[in-house]
Amino acid sequence: MSITKFKCAVCGKISTGRTPKDGDGSFRYPRRHKINGVVCEGVYEEAEWVNDDLPKTLDEAVDYYLPKFKGPNWFNDSEDSFASFCHSMLSGGIGMNIRNELGLWTKDTDIYKHFVNVHNIEHPDDMSDLILRSIYRKKTKND
Ligand SMILES: [Zn+2]
Repeated sequence: MSITKFKCAVCGKISTGRTPKDGDGSFRYPRRHKINGVVCEGVYEEAEWVNDDLPKTLDEAVDYYLPKFKGPNWFNDSEDSFASFCHSMLSGGIGMNIRNELGLWTKDTDIYKHFVNVHNIEHPDDMSDLILRSIYRKKTKND
């Protein structure tokens, strides 16, 4: 499930890429796009390769983050203590990192919309909390 997309060097728009005529395949231009009705200058510049592999649903997020909790000690205590530990700075800010990595603050990511539409929650803190609690539940159920 690895999809590569391309980020316009000028405006930052993410799109599927196109191979320039004179290119050797080692770089891509972004797809044609406009800013305020004018073709973006970045259309003819090399675009940055970006990995569009981030989770888009709660289930995908659980599967994505679960392997990062290696070792037996994570799940020894209650769900509440696990969740509050992950949200504290003692853990290195796991909750915060999840919110940043998934773009929960930008509000235009697929997973943000998923949480609003499917789980009826709107605050990024509640989203990372639900991800962490779901990880805890999946892990303790499996063992
Ligand atoms: Zn652009």
